[in-house]
This record gives sequence, C-alpha cells and structure tokens, in this order.
Amino acid sequence: MSLVIAGTMAFDAIETPFGKTDKIIGGSATYAAWSASHFTQPIQQISIIGGDFPNEEIEALQQRGVAFDGVEVVKDEKSFFWSGKYHMDMNTRDTLVTDLNVLAKFNPKVPDSYQGCEFLMLGNLMPSLQKQIIEQLKTRPKLIIMDTMNFWMDIALDDLKETMKLVDVLMVNDAEARQLSGEFSLVKSAQKIMEMGPKYLIIKKGEHGALLFHEHHVFFAPALPLEEVFDPTGAGDTFAGGFIGHLARTKDISFENMKTAIIIGSAMASFVVEKFGTTRLKEINNEQILTRLNQFVDLVNFEIDIV
Ligand code: AMP
Repeated sequence: MSLVIAGTMAFDAIETPFGKTDKIIGGSATYAAWSASHFTQPIQQISIIGGDFPNEEIEALQQRGVAFDGVEVVKDEKSFFWSGKYHMDMNTRDTLVTDLNVLAKFNPKVPDSYQGCEFLMLGNLMPSLQKQIIEQLKTRPKLIIMDTMNFWMDIALDDLKETMKLVDVLMVNDAEARQLSGEFSLVKSAQKIMEMGPKYLIIKKGEHGALLFHEHHVFFAPALPLEEVFDPTGAGDTFAGGFIGHLARTKDISFENMKTAIIIGSAMASFVVEKFGTTRLKEINNEQILTRLNQFVDLVNFEIDIV
C-alpha cells in the first residue's frame, strides 16, 4: 500500500483578515503528508529543502511514518518560500511572493526504495518535475493524482498539458478549471479537461465543497460550514492527502470509493483551516476525524418521498 507524495516543503508567510504569521512551515507535500499519515503509513516523500528547514519538523514527520530518502537537502541554500494574503471572503487570495530558492534547481530522483509504489500523489510543483517523477517509475502506480495551480498555468502551460496526459486524477480549483478549459460552466470545463488526459477530475470550490467528475458522472461533497475559518492555506493539499490516504489504505480505486475519499479529504481540510499552518493536522486523532466524518453524513442526509 505504498504511497509516494511529491511536492514542496516550504516556509510560508500568511496574512488573513484575522492575523498574520512570520515564516511558518508549509508546502504542498508537507500538508499532504501530514493529512495522509492519518490513514496510511509509510509515506515516501519526494521534495527539496534548504539547510534552514527545521530538524524538529523533519523528525516529527519521520515519527508519522514519512520516509525522507527522496528529500534532497541543500545545506547552503534556502527552502522554497511563499507568501499570500487572503481577502475578506477567505476563499480568494493574492500571492505576494514566490521565491523558488532550492526549487529552482530541483532535479527529483526517485530512490530505489520507492520503486513499485502503488499510489502517487503529485502535489503542487513545476509540471515538468511532476512528469520527471512519473517517468522514473519502473512500474506504473495503480493511481496517479496530480494537483496544480494557476501559477503553473500562467508560466508553464505546455508542460502542464504534457504531464496531464500521464495522470489519472487532476485536482484544481474552480477558477483554475475555467482558466484551463476556457469554459465558464464547470460541467463543460470538466469534459474539456478530461479530454486532455485525466479520467477523473476534482474541482475544489473552497467553502462551497468539491466536485468529482468521471465520464458522465458527477458527485458533490460539501464543505463543513465552520464557525471560524482561521487560515485556508494548505486546505487543497490537505484535501488531496486525505483523498489519496484513504484510497491507499483501502486499495480500492472505484468511483464509489472515490466518493468516500472526497468526503474524507473534505473532513481533513475542515480541520486544517481552524488554525495557522499544519497545527491542527498534528493535533487531531482518529476519534476526532470519525466525529467530523459523521458531521458530514448528517449535513447531507435527508429523506424525501417522491410520489
Ligand atoms: P493550497 O492552499 O492548498 O493551495 O497550498 C498552499 C501551499 O502551497 C503553501 O504551503 C505553499 O508553500 C505551497 N505553494 C504555493 N505556491 C506554490 C507553487 N507555485 N508551487 C508549489 N507549491 C506552492
């Protein structure tokens, strides 16, 4: 049930209408690994960090069953840095800074110990590097999931389209789906994007939940209405980690099981936004996750008599 997660391990500086952080730990692969580790271990991580990435963060992840054989450490350089500012609606944000630092020279190498993995989560990363990772795998995983963002659509669209051809599931948000397809309707967007390669498409809509498309089927998972959303950073990566963590644990990649996985991803995302950074993902336990999953069931369960 091995799961490989690739992506950034980073420092983030976040500004929301409710507060501001100095540099805290973030990155697509960091959030995804913390989230997935609640469902499956070991996790085999692929990333790059600078000498400034704290040892205690590495150790905490290792204790959660995250292997670092595929994480390159460049001692004299800085880790990837991202800074963002959220608007009042907390659904939209502006990227203030993207400092690639070590990421600019990243040439990911899949260690031998990762070969034969069954599940591959390509977190947000340069599309050419995502492709490089797929191409190094000697046997194709059972399922390849890819996350991306508008940043790469703006500067590396051709590479993105090439990589998309090689994956099973693509995850984007609603604005990105529209940008990628040139269609306003999300249904039309989904059809166009699936023609570009992925058989499954997940469109994340922040506080309005997520849609899962496959052929002509569509499934909707709500987001839990929360009293307080403190910091939405990493919600997408945490969602992805919960989604693939459940699939890797159950080894079942049917559309039906993906419906459960998307609810689990949504539940994990509902935790991460409650505090800054990865704090909540480190605190929560199985019982709290189960309670939250039941809240999701209650949220959408209703009876109807159609005569
Ligand atoms: P999310 O809120 O799920 O979109 O993910 C936010 C995380 O993605 C932050 O922790 C950032 O460090 C990371 N991130 C931001 N921009 C990029 C990028 N261009 N490539 C890879 N990771 C990024």
